[in-house]
Amino acid sequence: MLFSKQRTQMVKLQIVSRGVRDERVLDAMRHVPRHLFVPQARQSDAYDDHPIPIGNGQTISQPYMVALMTELAGAGEADRVLEVGTGSGYQAAILAELAAEVITIERHVELADSARTRLEGLGYDNVTVVAGDGTLGCPEHAPYDVIIVTAGGPHVPEALKSQLAIDGRLVCPVGARDMQRLVVLQRTPGEFIETGGVGCIFVPLVGEEGWT
Ligand code: SAM
Repeated sequence: MLFSKQRTQMVKLQIVSRGVRDERVLDAMRHVPRHLFVPQARQSDAYDDHPIPIGNGQTISQPYMVALMTELAGAGEADRVLEVGTGSGYQAAILAELAAEVITIERHVELADSARTRLEGLGYDNVTVVAGDGTLGCPEHAPYDVIIVTAGGPHVPEALKSQLAIDGRLVCPVGARDMQRLVVLQRTPGEFIETGGVGCIFVPLVGEEGWT
């Protein structure tokens, strides 16, 4: 299969070497054709250790960051997942390999449309791409067992916390506009337990409960 050697090397040298161990996540990263989620002119470096521009001033995240967030989210086979920040659709495809259903929301209509076409073309029939402000979540499909936010906000949006199922997990980069840390929230019947703290740099989460 095209680029399969590069995918194997990417997982070994960039992801396993940095401590990601979840075999389901590693298998998904070995399987999804990342080069089909970047502009054609960038296919040759699709498996390199960095984000890549995808248009509208946005990026597809570094492979390691996708793997780490996916591992932290811990999506199970029966789970319903919400992703905020569809971008290219790559993270949604990884989640679709692991979970029953993925709802992914993107504020740029052009990116949402092209990700939808790409994901449909690749046969991901368990992904729904929505255009809109993901800081408000997607109440019509809530509650979610897992929520992943792939843009950095000033805080975890309250709307997302309210749409997380009991026992669900939410992963979100939180901090300043130009530097964040990965916050992981676990919802229990009475509270949200926060862990995480890995430093990261994401494009801004822009919206009602994000940056202006
Ligand atoms: N997950 C993407 C992928 O696999 O290609 C990469 C995400 S990119 C780092 C962040 C994305 O979040 C951008 O496409 C950006 O337009 C989007 N975004 C930012 N604020 C948003 C919001 N409030 N609602 C939905 N999408 C948002």
